[in-house]
Amino acid sequence: MDQLPVLIVGAGPTGLAMACNLVRYGVKFRIVESASTPSIYSRAIGIQPRTLEYFHDLGVSDQLIAEGRKIYVVNGYVEGEKAFQLVTHTLERFSTQFPFLLSVPQSKTEKILEEKLNSFGIKVERGVSFETVEEREGLKVRLRLSDGKEELIDPIYLIACDGAHSQVRKSLNIEFKGHQDPHLFLLADLSLDWKYSDDAVHFFLGKKGTFGFIPLPGSKLFRFVSPLNVNESNLEPSFDLLKRVLKERGFWDKITINNVEWLSPFTVQYRSTLCFRNGNIFFLGDAAHIHSPVGGQGMNLGIQDAANLSWKLAIVLQNYGRKELLESYNWERRPIAQKVLRGTEVATNIVAIKFILFRWFRNAALRLIGKFRAFSVAITGRVSQLKHSYRESYVSYNYQIPFIKGWYSFRSAPIGGDRMPDTGSLRLKNDEKIYYLNSILKEPTHHLLIFLGQNFIDEIPEEYYQLVSNLKYYYGTLIIPHLVVPFGQFPFPHSWKRSVIYDPEQRMHIKFGASTPCLYLIRPDKHISFRSHPVDEEALFRYLDQIFY
Ligand SMILES: Cc1cc2nc3c(=O)[nH]c(=O)nc-3n(C[C@H](O)[C@H](O)[C@H](O)COP(=O)(O)OP(=O)(O)OC[C@H]3O[C@@H](n4cnc5c(N)ncnc54)[C@H](O)[C@@H]3O)c2cc1C
Repeated sequence: MDQLPVLIVGAGPTGLAMACNLVRYGVKFRIVESASTPSIYSRAIGIQPRTLEYFHDLGVSDQLIAEGRKIYVVNGYVEGEKAFQLVTHTLERFSTQFPFLLSVPQSKTEKILEEKLNSFGIKVERGVSFETVEEREGLKVRLRLSDGKEELIDPIYLIACDGAHSQVRKSLNIEFKGHQDPHLFLLADLSLDWKYSDDAVHFFLGKKGTFGFIPLPGSKLFRFVSPLNVNESNLEPSFDLLKRVLKERGFWDKITINNVEWLSPFTVQYRSTLCFRNGNIFFLGDAAHIHSPVGGQGMNLGIQDAANLSWKLAIVLQNYGRKELLESYNWERRPIAQKVLRGTEVATNIVAIKFILFRWFRNAALRLIGKFRAFSVAITGRVSQLKHSYRESYVSYNYQIPFIKGWYSFRSAPIGGDRMPDTGSLRLKNDEKIYYLNSILKEPTHHLLIFLGQNFIDEIPEEYYQLVSNLKYYYGTLIIPHLVVPFGQFPFPHSWKRSVIYDPEQRMHIKFGASTPCLYLIRPDKHISFRSHPVDEEALFRYLDQIFY
């Protein structure tokens, strides 16, 4: 029997996202989950714009948006008065189809992902628990099946998506380094009546404590979240505690709670493994990193871990990609997780300040800086995860010759490792249909964008024909070339047979700094892997040689 290429342990959002990605890349796998039924708890509710872009690639973003709630505004009140407003339309500067936060209970996100997986004829093996893994001449994994029997398998790769208490991690004696935070949060999903808008997040910072309400899909449904004060932390989580918390913060008489759908304490920990890879075993999501829920980053990070690793695993398993590429998963994702851990710890400490005097300083500072647009721009940009970049990665490369024509605009554009801007107003043929770039580059492979440059009027250079013919010869369908032209239709005859992206408003040219001809190579996870100015076939092939066989 053929060896199983990949075993995924855990069917939370990370494991399911990994599975859906591997289906796209044509990789065979099994996914096992110890729980016999799907989770019904709402837990993480915020889907960030960057995750929605990945969900778009997986074909689930439309359904999530239909079943979720778009949030464009976060209102901040300091001691009862509105002090700041964060607006997500500022995210449009990143060129994204999704300039908003989507609120969806985690149980629904998981359900939609699992249904997607089922639509490919793949089932999560429920009631099957991972027990141990040993590394001797490959991986030897012991599973406990739902009928109590044991199964021994030897997958080539093991993907640990089994959450914060990861049994894979424990089985390998891998340390989950970090610390527990002194703050305890109370979370509750409530149906309520009040005078505030149902479409925005509302955060209240007072002398007696901080709390927030985040809209959930449905009418007048909200997630309540509040760090507990010292005198509240050891009380049983219950409706009485919720009432006490709201009373203490002077808000009990401002709302009518119709129903409490779910209520849970949340102990904050900041932990991560020292390396997200151990030989042929990879750690993703909460199995690799956990942190505070402030900012709604946790679930999103795991889903993005899956997007990063899956394409690398696919091309290595299919014998096109160099094995060293797999090491870049740890090099790229761990610094991002560390940054999120640090950022959420700072944010949590600010939100949950215990000392009255410090609260007073915080509130005064927020009243002051909250007035500036830059405050909204900085916070929404960071939380959206659209700025996550792999610039330091050894698989990100920039080739440019300084001081030649067009150099300055190219220099100011996104560079190797950055997320690909998802520019809009693009056309594919001489029709009226408008596309976003992400929708054009839908094949799960590398894409080469060959920009003609903004002022192009000549004919297509012969070297571009040669470039695409060489690409086809050496890399077949692994890299799809697209000619990006700065007009709505060709003003001259041509014999270009490959994909053409028409950019009549030149938005894409401007965003990519392509005032003169240049190349951008886009990875399957829609990060820029290589770019060159001017167009340099030799530099491109040197780069490709490091990635592919
Ligand atoms: C009460 C609560 C509220 C939260 N609120 C937020 C929030 O507001 N925002 C946010 O971003 N994050 C929040 N989180 C965190 C968020 O839920 C996690 O970051 C997210 O679930 C991580 O997904 P995951 O798939 O990596 O891990 P998990 O969701 O933990 O999934 C792991 C899966 O592995 C399975 N498993 C475990 N062990 C085994 C085994 N031995 N064999 C087989 N399967 C196994 C588990 O049953 C589970 O289904 C919250 C978490 C909790 C508990």
